[in-house]
Amino acid sequence: MKSHYRAVVIGGGVVGASVLYHLAKFGWTDVCLIERSVLTAGSSWHAAGGFHALNADPNIASLQAYTIDLLSEIEQESGQSVGMHMTGGMTLAGTPDRWEWLQSAYRTFQSIGIDDCRLITPQEAGELCPIMSTEGILGGMWADREGYVDTTGTVHAYAGAAKKRGTEVIEHNRVLELHQVADGWQVVTEKGTIHAEHVVNAAGLWAKQVGRMAGVELPVSPLNHHYLISDTIPELEQLDFEVPMTVDLEGFTYMRQDQKGILLGIYEIDHEHWMMDGAPWEYGFELQQEDPDRIERELTLGFERYPALQTTGVKTWVNGAFTFAPDGNPLVGPVRGKPGYWCACGVMAGFLQGGGVGKSLAEWMIHGEPEADVFGMDVARFGDYAQNKRFIKETTGQFYTRRFVMTYPNEQLPAGRPLKKAPAYDGMTAASCRWGASYGLEIPLYFAPSEDFTETPTLKRSNAFDIVADECKAVREAVGLLDISAFSRFEVSGVGAEAWLNRIMASKLPAPGRAKLAPMLSPEGQLKGDLTVFNWGDGIWWIMGSYYLREWHMRWFQDHMGEDVEVRDVTDAITGFSLSGPNSRKVLEKLTDGPIADLPFMGCGTFDIGMLRLKVGRLSVAGELGYELHCTAAEHITLRETLLEAGANLGIREVGFNALLSLRLEKSFGIWSAEFTQGYSAAQTGMDRWIDWDKDFIGRGAALKERDAGGPEQVVVTLEVDATDADASGYEPVWQGETRVGFVTSGGYGHTTGKSLAMAMVDRDAAAEGTDLTVHIVGQERAARVIAPSPYDPSGTAMRG
Ligand SMILES: Cc1cc2nc3c(=O)[nH]c(=O)nc-3n(C[C@H](O)[C@H](O)[C@H](O)COP(=O)(O)OP(=O)(O)OC[C@H]3O[C@@H](n4cnc5c(N)ncnc54)[C@H](O)[C@@H]3O)c2cc1C
Repeated sequence: MKSHYRAVVIGGGVVGASVLYHLAKFGWTDVCLIERSVLTAGSSWHAAGGFHALNADPNIASLQAYTIDLLSEIEQESGQSVGMHMTGGMTLAGTPDRWEWLQSAYRTFQSIGIDDCRLITPQEAGELCPIMSTEGILGGMWADREGYVDTTGTVHAYAGAAKKRGTEVIEHNRVLELHQVADGWQVVTEKGTIHAEHVVNAAGLWAKQVGRMAGVELPVSPLNHHYLISDTIPELEQLDFEVPMTVDLEGFTYMRQDQKGILLGIYEIDHEHWMMDGAPWEYGFELQQEDPDRIERELTLGFERYPALQTTGVKTWVNGAFTFAPDGNPLVGPVRGKPGYWCACGVMAGFLQGGGVGKSLAEWMIHGEPEADVFGMDVARFGDYAQNKRFIKETTGQFYTRRFVMTYPNEQLPAGRPLKKAPAYDGMTAASCRWGASYGLEIPLYFAPSEDFTETPTLKRSNAFDIVADECKAVREAVGLLDISAFSRFEVSGVGAEAWLNRIMASKLPAPGRAKLAPMLSPEGQLKGDLTVFNWGDGIWWIMGSYYLREWHMRWFQDHMGEDVEVRDVTDAITGFSLSGPNSRKVLEKLTDGPIADLPFMGCGTFDIGMLRLKVGRLSVAGELGYELHCTAAEHITLRETLLEAGANLGIREVGFNALLSLRLEKSFGIWSAEFTQGYSAAQTGMDRWIDWDKDFIGRGAALKERDAGGPEQVVVTLEVDATDADASGYEPVWQGETRVGFVTSGGYGHTTGKSLAMAMVDRDAAAEGTDLTVHIVGQERAARVIAPSPYDPSGTAMRG
C-alpha cells in the first residue's frame, strides 16, 4: 500500500470492483481498492447472480444492457471465469393490464435499441420452461441476454482485470476515517493513512457509515431478501437444456436453475429492513435466519408456479440484506460541497447494474461528465429532505414491496407523504385538489369535481380526462390559477453576478425588467438546464427551473462558481401562483393601480397586488396571456384568496399540472426529463435558438462544432397521432415503414385542438412536416404524422397579446 493514490475505492463488492476496473480501463491506474474483509464480503457473495433486461427507466435499462455485454469481456481480460449461464429469460404477465404493460415495455426496449426481446405466448413460455405451470399466464416477454453468473467469480473477474491494468486491491483493511483536505482526502485505514485526490464510497451495506465519515447523509437502507435453492428436481435432470431465468411478476418471484434444482427468489410483500444505520463492522459471512412464515403467500404462489417444489426439499435458504435508495435506483456521482467524494452505492442489483454504474462513475471522475444521461441514478436527484430516517424507511419499503407490483403512470403512491406542503395546501385540498409528489413536495395535479371522486389507475386515458379538459378550457377561455411552488428559484447577487450568468448561460441575458429563456450547457455541449433568468433591475437576478432539479442545479452552479457572486436557493422561502388565460390581466387590474397592463411579454417587475407587494413576471407555459406572481411562503394563502376573489366574476378556476402538461404540448413547449435532458445537445431540442453565439459561454466550442458540422442527426418534432383511448407518454418507438426512426419524448391529449399529440426525437430525414409515421402506444401501432410546431396558436398571438 502506498501513501498516495489518485483515487481510493472503498469497498470490494461487485460495485467497487467495477469502479476500479473502469477507472483503470479509462486511464487511471494509480488507484487502489480497500476492502474491510475480503472481496465480496458484503451483499455480493450471497446474491443470486441473476441479470435481466427490464427497468422502468430506459437509461438504466441501457446501462444494464452494457453490463451484460461486459461480463464476458472481463472474464477474458482477467482469465477468471464469471460462471456465465446465458439461459435467456422470460418476464411473465398474469393480468390483462400487466400484459398490456409488458407489450408496451417491449416497444420501449425497441426504442432504446434493445432488440433481442420478443413477446411470447403462454404456450411458448411453457415449452421454454417445462417445469413451470402456465396457469393464469396471459403472455410474456423473452429476452436472449438474460441469465445468471457466479457472484464471487464475477467480483474477482472485475478486480483481476483491474489489477492487470495496474491498480491495487488491499484486503483486510478497514477505512476508519475520512478527512477532507485542501487537495483531496485523507483516508485513515487500519494499515495506515493514504492521501487521495478522490475517494469512492462503494461500501454497499456500510455505505451509510462511509457517507457519515465525510459528513454525507445518504438516503439508503438495507432490506432483507430471501431465496431458496431446491434439491434436485427429476424433471430438470431429464432436460438437455437449462431452463430460462423466469420472473413471475404476479407471483412476486424470480427463478433460475441451480445445478439440477432451482433457485426461487422472493420480493416480499411484508418487507423487513435491516440495520438502517448500516451493517455492524464485525458482520462477516453470516446470514439472517430464514422466515418462511413472513413470505408464506409468495411461497404458496411460487410452489403453484413450479409444482415440482411441492415434492422437492429445500437444500439452502438464503436471507441476506442488500441496499435500496427511495426509488430503487443507485446513488451515483459527486456530492455538492465535497469535491473529490464520489458515491457508487444503493445498487440493489449489482450484478446487473454494476457495470453501468462503474462505467458512468469512472467517466464522471475522469472526464467531468458521464457519457449517458444518468440523472435517474444521480445522487443529486434527492435533497436534504430525503435524509430523514422515517422517509427512507417508508420509501425504500414501498419500493421493495412493490418491486414486482404494477404501478400505473397515473398512480400516486403514499410512502413518505405528505412531506412538504405549500402554505395554501389545506385550502386547495378543501377545493378537492388531487396531489402528486415531486422532490418531497406536494404538487397539484387537478381539482376533482367532488371529494369522493377516485381516479382509476390505468395505462390509458383515465376518468380524470374530462376534468383536465375542463381545466384546459378555463385557461384557454377565461383564466386558470396554478400553484407554482414547484418551480425552483435561485437568487443571484453580487458585483460578479452578471459576468457569472453570462458565462454559465448560453443565452443573452435579459435587460433590466425582463426575463429570458436560458439554456445552460456542459463543456461538451449537452444540456444542463432549460432555465428562465429574471433581471429585476436592482442588481438581483433570479434563475428559475424545476423544483426536483434543485440539488442537481445547485451542484452545477457551485462547481462552476464565479468571483464576487452569491447564489442562494430561495425556493422554500419564495412561492407563488400563476394566472393564465385571456382574463388574467383583468384579474390583476382589479388588484393593482400599478401599470400591469404595460408589462410586456417576458417583462417582470414589482407590483402591489391586493395588499401584497409582489415580484411579477409576464410568462406563460400554457401559451396564453399569463403572469407568474411570486410571494413569500407567509403570503401564499393570502395570494390565493386574493386572486380567487378578484377572478370570481371572470371565470377563474384552479387548475393543476396535468392541465399545464396538455396546454404546453399544444404549444410544442418542451420540458425537462422529456424533450430536454443532459443526453441531448441544444440543437437537437431546438434550444439553440436561444443561444447568443456572439459571447463566450460554457459549451460554446462544442455547440459551435455541432452547428458547423451541419447540425444534429436527430431533432425534436411534433406529431399528431391517430390515437383513440390512450396517448403517447414517452419512449414509444416511432417508425417510418419498417424502420425505427426515433422515439416519443412526451405525449398526451391536446384538449383545445382535440388532437392526440406527441413530441418525438426523430432522424432528420423523417422530420419534415407531413411525413407519415407510426407510433406504438400501449403496444398498439397508431398512424402519426409530423405537424408544424405549436398546433395551438402558432403565431403566439394569445401569449403576446
Ligand atoms: C439474497 C440476495 C439476492 C440477490 N440477488 C441478486 C441478483 O440476482 N442479481 C443482482 O444483480 N443482485 C442481486 N442481489 C443484490 C446484490 O447482492 C447487490 O446489489 C450487490 O452485491 C451490491 O454490491 P456492492 O458492491 O454495492 O456492495 P457489497 O457487496 O455490500 O460490498 C461492499 C463492500 O464494502 C466493504 N466495506 C464497507 N465498508 C468498508 C470500509 N469502511 N472499509 C473497507 N471496506 C469496506 C465491505 O466489506 C463489502 O465487501 C441480491 C442480494 C441479496 C441479499
